[in-house]
Amino acid sequence: MNAQDISQIAVIGAGTMGAGIAGIFARAGSEVRLVDLNDRVLQRGMEQLRDAQKTLIAANLLSSQEAEAALGRITPLTDLETACDGVQLLIEAVSEDMAMKQRMFRRFDDLCPEHAVLTSNTSGLSITEIARATKRPNLVAGMHFWNPPHLIPLVEVTKGKETSDATAQLLMAICRRIGKRPILVRHDVPGFVGNRLQFAVLREALHLLSEGIASAEDIDAAMTCGPGLRYGLLGPLRTADLGGLDVFLAISTYLFAELSSDTEPPALMAELVKQGQLGAKTGGGFYPYEEKELSEIIARRDRVLLGFLSHL
Ligand code: NAD
Repeated sequence: MNAQDISQIAVIGAGTMGAGIAGIFARAGSEVRLVDLNDRVLQRGMEQLRDAQKTLIAANLLSSQEAEAALGRITPLTDLETACDGVQLLIEAVSEDMAMKQRMFRRFDDLCPEHAVLTSNTSGLSITEIARATKRPNLVAGMHFWNPPHLIPLVEVTKGKETSDATAQLLMAICRRIGKRPILVRHDVPGFVGNRLQFAVLREALHLLSEGIASAEDIDAAMTCGPGLRYGLLGPLRTADLGGLDVFLAISTYLFAELSSDTEPPALMAELVKQGQLGAKTGGGFYPYEEKELSEIIARRDRVLLGFLSHL
């Protein structure tokens, strides 16, 4: 099967990620079945997708006609059996729960054609374990889109122990066809690559904050006005190349031993979660959020991301 031959897609779960992923494939010309538990959730997903397309239209990356045509290629469904019938590629985007994913993959395996490729948008659960629920582990892989999926180019294509090279290469080609930048994660280590990098930084940020070394605002500014700018363009390894490996080695010699190596979930974040401070969605986390202010932060994030993407 070639990437161009894949035109029948099913996306399971129409939440934050699923609706956005369905939109990406529909804009690339595929027919997409978008599945969730009930019509209310499906409608919310389609609404979210319309909002994402408005952002793309405002940035001149999509015309209104293309946006409408893309919506027309998406069939919202509550019936998994219909969704899986004749499908070539399935992307699962339900909750991050191994037992649930395995239950679902067992059903996908029963309902989808035997050559269909089954993927999970899991943020870091084991692909090998998910694939074990099927009789086709060679055709099961991770396909991890990043939020917001209509803007972030990265997709992590992750191989489980039994995923074939052909499956991985097909998914890499599909990602390129839909305008994404795939990376191949050769072994399904927890967190893959992106989240390992992200959480290594978060662990150190939480350490600095709980030790009172800098305020939350200053820790964030240290990233957004400093290394974050370079990372966004160059990545950590090329940044080191440009800085000089001798210099980075000398710094590593005294700094690595000082960095947080906590293996427990961070107490500071656990305390906030216990208090119901879940971040922007509950009006507060490390910072307080008013609704209007939050919309402005998200609009600015999208604007800056779009500008940034035009330079990549
Ligand atoms: P979400 O909670 O927003 O959406 C999940 C959807 O799945 C819900 O609409 C729910 O009704 C639906 N669902 C649950 N059981 C179902 C079933 N049996 N059949 C059909 N639909 C069902 O979750 P999300 O944030 O979109 O995350 C989905 C997956 O993507 C998770 O594995 C998550 O780790 C991963 N992910 C999330 C993000 C993010 O930033 N939110 C980023 C990358 C990856």
